[in-house]
Amino acid sequence: MNKPLQIVDIGVNLAHRSFQSDRKEVIERAFAAGVGVMVVTGTSLTGSQEALQIAQEYPDQIYATAGVHPHDSRNCSEETISELRRLATNEEVVAIGECGLDFNRDFSPRPQQEKWFEAQVALAEELQIPVFLHERDAQQRFCEILVRVRKMVPAVVHCFTGTREELNAYLDMDLHIGITGWICDERRGIHLRELVKEIPPERLMIETDAPFLIPRTMPNKPKDGRNEPAFLPNVLQAVADCLGKPAADVAEMTTQTAKNFFQLGIKSPRSKTS
Ligand SMILES: [Zn+2]
Repeated sequence: MNKPLQIVDIGVNLAHRSFQSDRKEVIERAFAAGVGVMVVTGTSLTGSQEALQIAQEYPDQIYATAGVHPHDSRNCSEETISELRRLATNEEVVAIGECGLDFNRDFSPRPQQEKWFEAQVALAEELQIPVFLHERDAQQRFCEILVRVRKMVPAVVHCFTGTREELNAYLDMDLHIGITGWICDERRGIHLRELVKEIPPERLMIETDAPFLIPRTMPNKPKDGRNEPAFLPNVLQAVADCLGKPAADVAEMTTQTAKNFFQLGIKSPRSKTS
C-alpha cells in the first residue's frame, strides 16, 4: 500500500482575502491531500500578523514568514522592520519575507523596493533565520543587494520562472529554489521542465503560491480559478515527471529539503523576551 504523501507547501498565501470565508476548509482539504506542512507567506505587516495567527492555530503543521513584499514596500518604514523583528521572535515564524524586487509591475518605486529589501535581508542576518525571496525582472540589482547584505542565512527564491542563466546565478549564490505550478503551464513553463533537472535535490522545494498560479494541467479546475494548497500534488507530479522519478521519491526529497531549510519541527532557540 502507498504511504500517504506528506509534502510541504513552502509558499501559500492563506492570509489572502480570497481565503477569508473558507480558510478552515481549505486547510483541511490540504491536509487530506497529503500536504502535511504549510508555510504561510507574509506579504505585508498585517498579512504577516495574520499569517502568524493562522500558524498558531495549527502547531507543527502551519508556519509563517514575516515580511513585506516589494509591491508593498512603499508602505514600509523603520517601525515596520521593528514589528517584523518582534513577530519573528515567535517560533512559528520560520523566515523573513517574502521580500525582494519586482521591476515587472513596479507597484512601489524602485528605490523604496531596494531600501526595504536590503533592510529585511539585514534583519534575517541579525536574527539568523532564512529569507523567503521574490524577484521579477530585477535579477541584477537583486543579486547585487543580496551579495552585499547576505552573509550566512539560507535563502530561497520562491516561484522561480527564469532562464538558465538566472538559475545558474542563483545556484552559484547558494540559493534554494521554489517551484510553483508555473511548471504545469504549457505556454509559459516549458523551459522550466528542463531547468528543474539542474537544481540539486537539496536545494529544490515546491509551493503553490495559492491563491495564484493554479496548475493548468489540473483536471476539473475550480471555476473561479483560485489555487489551493490541496493542489500541490499537481506541482509535485509535474516535477517528478520532469525528473523521471516516482512522485513519492520527489515528495520525500523536497520535504526533507524544506524541513532542513526552515528547521521545521526543531524548536527554536530564539528568545521571546528580547
Ligand atoms: Zn512572490
